[in-house]
Formats: sequence, C-alpha cells, structure tokens
Amino acid sequence: MSDADTITEEGARDFIRDGIRDDLAGGRVDGVVTRFPPEPNGYLHIGHAKSVCLNFGVAQEFGGRCHLRMDDTNPVKEEHEYIESIKKDVRWLGYDWGEHLYFASDYFEQLYDWAEHLVRASKAYVDDLSADEIRAHRGTLIEPGTDSPYRERSVEENLDLLRRMRAGEFKEGERVLRAKIDMASGNINLRDPVMYRILHSPHPRTGDAWCIYPTYDFAHGQSDAIEHVTHSLCTLEFADHRPLYDWFVENLPVPARPHQYEFSRLNLTHTVLSKRRLIELVEQGHVRGWDDPRMPTLQGLRRRGYPPAAIRDFAGRVGITKSDNVVEMALLEHCARELLNKTAERRMAVLDPLKVVIENYPEGQVEELEAVNNPEDESAGRRRVPFSRELYIEREDFMEDPPKKFFRLAPGREVRLRYAYFLTCNEVVKNDAGEVVELRCSYDLATRGGNAPDGRKVKATLHWVSAAKALSAEVRLYDHLLSAPEAGLEANPLEHLNPDSLKVLTDCRLEPNLADAEAGGAVQFERLGYFCLDPDATPDRPVFNRTVALRDTWAKIQAKGKG
Ligand code: ATP
Ligand code: MG
Repeated sequence: MSDADTITEEGARDFIRDGIRDDLAGGRVDGVVTRFPPEPNGYLHIGHAKSVCLNFGVAQEFGGRCHLRMDDTNPVKEEHEYIESIKKDVRWLGYDWGEHLYFASDYFEQLYDWAEHLVRASKAYVDDLSADEIRAHRGTLIEPGTDSPYRERSVEENLDLLRRMRAGEFKEGERVLRAKIDMASGNINLRDPVMYRILHSPHPRTGDAWCIYPTYDFAHGQSDAIEHVTHSLCTLEFADHRPLYDWFVENLPVPARPHQYEFSRLNLTHTVLSKRRLIELVEQGHVRGWDDPRMPTLQGLRRRGYPPAAIRDFAGRVGITKSDNVVEMALLEHCARELLNKTAERRMAVLDPLKVVIENYPEGQVEELEAVNNPEDESAGRRRVPFSRELYIEREDFMEDPPKKFFRLAPGREVRLRYAYFLTCNEVVKNDAGEVVELRCSYDLATRGGNAPDGRKVKATLHWVSAAKALSAEVRLYDHLLSAPEAGLEANPLEHLNPDSLKVLTDCRLEPNLADAEAGGAVQFERLGYFCLDPDATPDRPVFNRTVALRDTWAKIQAKGKG
C-alpha cells in the first residue's frame, strides 16, 4: 500500500497540519482561522476542491473556522453568476462557512486608506509609465530592474495624483500606484509591484463607486489580515509572492499577521484544471456547458453522478505535499466506485438490446421475480422485476461463432439470466443484411431463481430486461476529455481533445423500477457501471449518465506498481 492509501479524511497528517500543531503547541496562535479565496471568474473545478477540503477540513479538525472569501478585485472578469455557483459548489461539497462569507471588495475603502498610508510613508508612488514601459523597466531573472523616472515624486504630489486617480481624472493605463520596494531585488515580485490600476469598469458589488482597483497582490494578504486568518494556505506558485505579502503586512497597521503556507496544485490526467482553459472548452462548443459531465468542474462531476463524499475521499488520498505531480484520473474514478458500491442500488439495463424470444414460456404471462437491491447492504432490501416471454439482452453477450474464451450466450449454449432462469439459445434469426436480430431460446422452469436442482453449472450470468415492461431510454457514456494523459499540462491542451469523449445511446431498455429514479441519485446498472439520471430526462424519456464503469483501472495501476 502506498502512503496515500493510509491517509483518511479524519486522521490526515501532512506538513501543513503538522505546522498548525506546532503553532498551537508553541503558542504562536490560539486558534485556527483559514479561508478559501476563489476569484469569482469561473466555476470551481476539482483542483479547487482540493483547496476547499484542505481549508475547511483543517478548520474542522482543529476546532477553528474557515471563511469563504470572494477575491473580487478584478471587475472585468467577474460576475454574480460565478459567486452564486461557488457558494452552491462549496455547500454541495459538504462545507459550511456559517456567517463568514466575505468579499475583498468589502475592503476597498480600507485598502485605499492603506495605500495612502504607504504614500505618506514614502513607500508608494504614482507612476506615469505605461504597462509596456513598466515591463521593460522590470529587468529579468538575471538582470536588475531600473527605477522609473517618477519614483522620487514627493509625498504631496503622489497623494494628489492618487486622489485624482480615484476621482476618475485619468484614463485607463495612464497611471498606476506602485509600492516602492527595490528594483534590484532578486525577487521580481518585489520590484515595485503595482498596487492600483485604473479601470473604468463597474464592479458587480461596488457598482460605479470605484474606477481604481487594487491588484490581487495588494488585496490578498491584507484581506487575510483583516479577517484574522491565521493560516493562509495557497498553491506553490504564490511562494514567490510571500515576501511581498509580508512586506505589505509589515509596513501597514494591519490588525493581525497571517502566515502563508504553500502546497502543490492538483493536476489530473486526461483533463485541464485551469479556468481559462475550461472557459475555452465551453465557449468553443467542445462541451455542452460548464456542467457537462465530462468537465472537471464540480458542477460537471455532480451531473456525472460523483457523490461529494467521493471527492472528499479523493482529496484526502491525494494528500498535501510540496511536490508537483499529476494524479491519475483512475484514482478519482476509484473513489467514486468504492463509495457507490456501498450505496448505489442495483438495477438491470440493456444498453444495446438484442431480442430474445423464449419459445417454451407462456405467451402473455408476466411473473415478478425477486432481485437483491444491494448485495453490499442487506437493509436496501429487495424488489420485483418482471419476466416475460420476450426479453432484451446485451448484444455483446451473444456471439454466433464464439472464440474459445467467450463464455456468454452462443447457439446451443446455456447461461443464467440473473435472478431468473437458465436459458439456452436454439436458433439465430437474421435480417436481409445478415445481422442477428433475434434469438429463439428456451428456458428451464426448474432453474427458477437461477440455480439448477441437478447441480449443473453455467459459465455466465447475463442481465436482461422484459421487452413488454421495459422503459426505453437514452444513456450517455463518457470518456476522457483529453486523449493524452498529460496533455493538460501542455501549452495547448485542446489539441488533444478526445473526439470520442461522449457516446449517446438512444435505444436502451431499462427495468421498469427505474421509472422512479431521481435526478442525481446513483444506481448501478448490473455489469455496466454506476449511472445517474440526467436533468435532461423527461417523465416519459429517461436519460442516464454513466458516472464510472465497473472495471477498475486504478486497481490495475496499483497491482502493476507492486510488480
Ligand atoms: P485557475 O488556474 O483554474 O484559474 P486559480 O488559482 O486562478 O485557478 P482561484 O479562484 O484564484 O483560481 O483559486 C482559489 C483557490 O483555489 C486558490 O487558493 C488556489 O490556490 C486554489 N486552487 C486553484 N486551482 C487549484 C488546484 N489545481 N489545486 C489546488 N488548489 C487550487
Ligand atoms: Mg488565482
């Protein structure tokens, strides 16, 4: 077993939790406050779920609290729709921020006061350079930057210009406010970073109140400080920003001092985890929307049938480390399968129907056979499934001329019909094109329930559906969005789109008990996988999504690893 297997949601150990234990033991903090700080410019994906589970999980484990804070500093890309979807998704994952919902935009006035504070302390200045010029002055990783000619403006001039920026006297891009730190710093983030830029855009929450907006870097650490966040957990790409956040916190009269810890982002094979890429998928029509079941968004996973507990389990198994890696999609699927195996009731469904006529079964007769709802859970009880003279079986469960290792139905061969009888194929009926359209069969009444009193054995058990009573349905099967496992990390992942990521089957037959299925509720179609009713379903036309197939590629990957 790998280390990841031993980590459970409750007893997780990692460098962040160890650090928190030390902080509490050493008295650096007397409680734990974390936050999940999404920018409301897209829908949450499974990568965000890792961060949600970490932040809310840590708060729960240490008896602290976790805030949900919308980092809404960029009015251009942010929308109400995203704010609402983020709240919905975090709740769906099973977490509750209580009264602690915050918005960086609530701090705009405070942040602006602090900007003036830095100007008054000669630690910030208004720069008239254009964005391109600022970039050109910034230097490179090996060369220091050069000072802006406006760097030595007086406090009075800076204050006047900043106030006029706020008053809307200037055009976008004409001026910015920069922190005055060190243009020769080895850390480019400290080379006089921009704190405010002019954007004549209304903000979803503050409307027209502002035409200058703080940068993420100027807002983020101070927002944490305002909220008394003790542990700011973020992904590794912000490690280089930490000295800047610390500089702001040290130079401002903030009410508390957050400490930042960085962990590696989640990367997942066969998909993309970047809001920008996900927007492209939607806008270019490669998927049907944000909640397309192929999308790694939480709404996509939900529509696909992933239970939130499976995602929390996955986040726990992936664990928290500082090393970048790509996690197998098969692990996520494994988590869903393991949970659904315990919770999902079994039903029978035929995706590619082949008609069977049982010639020695009385015409017009329908009998109700008893079927087990969940062999993993006795309390799920039993149900009745209608059996009749005409049935459907899965086309691939029959071969006219079977190779050696094919044990299912073939001419002259006997198999078991699940919960029903032994069935023998006597004759194959074909159409003009030579395709098999029907099997003429016989059954053995003495094998009712699926066992022969004379002890004779069969090598296969098939699922089936009564033709007379079947519901006709659409079933959608999904495959990976990207065909190359690590395409998600490439410069243009969409070049690797899998053309067969969606297969729509329109002629499926379901056992009639599935008429009561509820949207989102999980069922196992025996031998086929876990499915859930899609919201596209109508009262007379069920539509099911396959969440995962039964075959477990993760188990195989692990077995291979053991050699
Ligand atoms: P994207 O790259 O998808 O746009 P982002 O980092 O810009 O993601 P934010 O809204 O800023 O999105 O993210 C909110 C929080 O979620 C941040 O703390 C960020 O570190 C975390 N997060 C985002 N993506 C991942 C990921 N793949 N794995 C772990 N945490 C992530
Ligand atoms: Mg971000």
